[in-house]
Amino acid sequence: MSIDRHSSATATVDVQNPATGAVVGSVPLQTADAVQAVVRELRSRQPAWEALGSEGRAAWLRKLRNWLLDNESRLVEELHAETSKPRAEAVLEVMMICDAINYYSDRARKFLADERPRPHGLLTVQKKLTQVYRPYPVVGIISPWNFPLMIPGVDAVPALLAGAAVVIKPSEVTPMSGLGLARGWREIGAPPVLACVTGRGETGAAVVDSVDMVQFTGSTRTGRAIAARAGERLIPCSVELGGKDPAIVLADADLVRAANGIAWGGLVNSGQACISVERVYVEASVYDRFLELLAERVSALRQGLDDGCASADIGALATVQQAEIVRGHVDDALARGAGLLTGSIVRDTGMFVEPTILVDVDHSMACMREETFGPTIPVMRVADAEEAIRLANDCEYGLSATVWTKDRARGEAIARRLEVGSVNINDAYANLFCFALPQGGWKNSGLGSRLGGAQGVRKYCRRQAITAPRVRPPKNEVLWYPYSPRRARTVAKMLRLLAARNVRRRLFRG
Ligand code: NDP
Repeated sequence: MSIDRHSSATATVDVQNPATGAVVGSVPLQTADAVQAVVRELRSRQPAWEALGSEGRAAWLRKLRNWLLDNESRLVEELHAETSKPRAEAVLEVMMICDAINYYSDRARKFLADERPRPHGLLTVQKKLTQVYRPYPVVGIISPWNFPLMIPGVDAVPALLAGAAVVIKPSEVTPMSGLGLARGWREIGAPPVLACVTGRGETGAAVVDSVDMVQFTGSTRTGRAIAARAGERLIPCSVELGGKDPAIVLADADLVRAANGIAWGGLVNSGQACISVERVYVEASVYDRFLELLAERVSALRQGLDDGCASADIGALATVQQAEIVRGHVDDALARGAGLLTGSIVRDTGMFVEPTILVDVDHSMACMREETFGPTIPVMRVADAEEAIRLANDCEYGLSATVWTKDRARGEAIARRLEVGSVNINDAYANLFCFALPQGGWKNSGLGSRLGGAQGVRKYCRRQAITAPRVRPPKNEVLWYPYSPRRARTVAKMLRLLAARNVRRRLFRG
């Protein structure tokens, strides 16, 4: 990463392919003033966008879906260039956005329709009650480097459908995909209500200071700072943060599926995912067999730079800092008595960490407590399901978990005892594709949630209450002025009649 410091107006950030170190792009380092100007412009365009109505907005989102499909190869190459992730994984990012567009565009009218609750008592019986969903004018989406297209895309879709204008601030490490999304919006000729600003943390902070609502994905440290700043500004934020997701393998599990699923769930995207499987608890009776199957699967994986013909299963880590964290966790575990079943070889550029299975681990080790965000799978032997549940919950994070068992009812019963926002039984990542379900973290893993059916689009709206008389109202109301002893008595009796639920209390004052 290098910065041209000659002029603050033209400063840029170079983007590197982490596997090769090659510079693959360069983006502006936008100042707080520049961010404010972008947000001002978005704010001025937003009312016309809102006025299009949900169907009008959905029509533009569907055009964006077609653009994404028509430009898939270009987007995949950009993603591959700035992350080094295999193209098979990059394609998923494009398709997830298309799926989100289809899901929310088809339902936007229903999800955003006015609601008409019934009045609940005599005092309000003459009223027509309406709840209206009105968008936050400008939503800021601050996104990380692990899924640089999917995360801003999947968050922008419901925000735009809600009627908000959106400014995306991608990570400085991988800004090109976010810019690609904004380019697509321009190329389809859509109203200018989607923009992308680039730069470092200061640019993200300027976004928080300018917008009306923040959707953030990233580290717990930054998420906490953003939530604090949003609190000062009294604007809402939804923060999706890190995790330390446990996998529980019970003795009755289909061990082959469990090993395959945990290998993928722990290593996809080089393990750089918030819902990555980060630690595994296996019942003692199947521990050895499970390890055998896991090692077989993991040692067969090919690591390297995908040549375009699916030649690699795992790419490099995104940053030097990330590689250091991962190696630190492996070194710490080994120093405390853990063993290596597979891995860890450091390649030339220093950004490849081989898929690493750690055994003989325990909760004194960083690899079992702190977010690793890398291609490691620490596996711990447990006596039974009770011990697994206790250890799974012994964690500051609460994002998601997996449970592996042939007994679905038992799996669900265990899920309900885990302190996490989502649980996949006999699968990894499955909830990510279920837009009807919320994705959110408990404990230090977040605040609020994304997607989750209607809530996924309504979160970008302020709820407005409107009351109106059903029939022509009288000139004065009994609750209004002037007060008099007789009126006060009448009103008190009337209110008592409404409040009490038995005859004595209806008739006699206490
Ligand atoms: P950060 O949380 O620092 O970055 C996420 C996003 O926030 C980036 O766009 C970043 O910009 C931006 N940002 C940074 N500081 C501020 C700020 N003060 N105000 C507003 N926006 C800001 O993640 P890191 O890249 O530093 O990764 C650190 C760790 O976070 C990882 O090791 C991993 O454990 C975790 N992580 C979790 C992710 C998840 O999906 N939950 C994703 C990525 C990381 P910029 O990059 O330009 O600094």
